[in-house]
Amino acid sequence: MSVEALRPGDLEVIAEQLGRPPRGVVGVAARCVCGRPLVVRTAPRLEDGTPFPTTYYLTSPGAVRVVGTLEAEGLMRQMTERLAEDEELAAAYQRAHEDYLRRRAELGEVPEIEGISAGGMPTRVKCLHVLVAHSLAVGPGVNPLGDEALALIAPVWRPDRCTC
Ligand SMILES: [Zn+2]
Repeated sequence: MSVEALRPGDLEVIAEQLGRPPRGVVGVAARCVCGRPLVVRTAPRLEDGTPFPTTYYLTSPGAVRVVGTLEAEGLMRQMTERLAEDEELAAAYQRAHEDYLRRRAELGEVPEIEGISAGGMPTRVKCLHVLVAHSLAVGPGVNPLGDEALALIAPVWRPDRCTC
């Protein structure tokens, strides 16, 4: 299982980033060059039994903010339209969906969310934060639309240049 363990102090930083105590966090999937968590890995079932499909969760406040700006600019609708027209992109996005499910299953099977990933995958884009978190966690070449969003925000936010 490719989950990086939590380091001492991580949960405190994550609580500060989210503005609330984190729930179900089992590891850190991506870190800033400064060491602070950017993306957390969350259990597919929370302690109270709630199914939680979003296994990669973007916690970096700077990234959350700039990705929110992309969402406000209408990028999700444009991407969803392209998915309907571009077979190659649609196939790559389908593979991203399957990758997401496969990696989440490493943390346990949850029947209520079987086959359901997050962010609108595999046919729509409903949350860019989910796609960016996936790309940051697994690296380029897996989630094409997460990769695109990361490229768009790179002038103001990137994981290899600390803006924490
Ligand atoms: Zn940093």
